[in-house]
Amino acid sequence: MKRVFVVEDEQDIASVLVDYLRAGGMAPQHFADGEQALQAALADPPDLLLLDVMLPGRSGLEVLRALRLRGSLPVILLTARVEEVDRLLGLELGADDYICKPFSPREVVARVKAVLRRAAPAAPGMGLQLDEAQGAVTLAGQKLALTRKEFQLLAVLARRPGRIFSRPQLLELVYPDARDTSERVLDSHVKNLRRKLAAVPGEHEWIRSVYGVGFSFEAP
Ligand code: CA
Repeated sequence: MKRVFVVEDEQDIASVLVDYLRAGGMAPQHFADGEQALQAALADPPDLLLLDVMLPGRSGLEVLRALRLRGSLPVILLTARVEEVDRLLGLELGADDYICKPFSPREVVARVKAVLRRAAPAAPGMGLQLDEAQGAVTLAGQKLALTRKEFQLLAVLARRPGRIFSRPQLLELVYPDARDTSERVLDSHVKNLRRKLAAVPGEHEWIRSVYGVGFSFEAP
């Protein structure tokens, strides 16, 4: 059973999350204080932390920073406002996902399961190969005809599977010389890239849209 720490000082929210996670077949443990959660996570790491940003003791961000110094324990940040997500992404702390309040507990459980799946060791031969020297991409043995920008976009995303990149970050990383490239251009490159990836049979969705934030590369 997967152990999930629910680090949340609002008792009502925490209780609902604990109930849903338990019903979802996980073993949740509740902490109302950042420092206690950090010490417990360092002493006996859980499989995942659901971590509220605003906490007494130590803030969620301080807890995340301290955890990142020790390893790559999966963390989903809970935040009060969608506008805050861009700021959090900018901090480069490397959360695995972000959930904005108010949220549906059902959605939280689904996202927890998705992050746990991603955190599992990657299956060998995932089928997508990037040859960065040649700028060539092969999926399930088929060569994909990508433009240079589509290739760069895919390469940036695929180097950090599961990591969410905001649109401004992607613009900076993929089009560093084109100061005037718009988010609309980026979105159309993502759309084309998805279409080309989807042309090869297989159910997997390689590029995930994170509503209001950006995109991430999802390993199968
Ligand atoms: Ca809080």
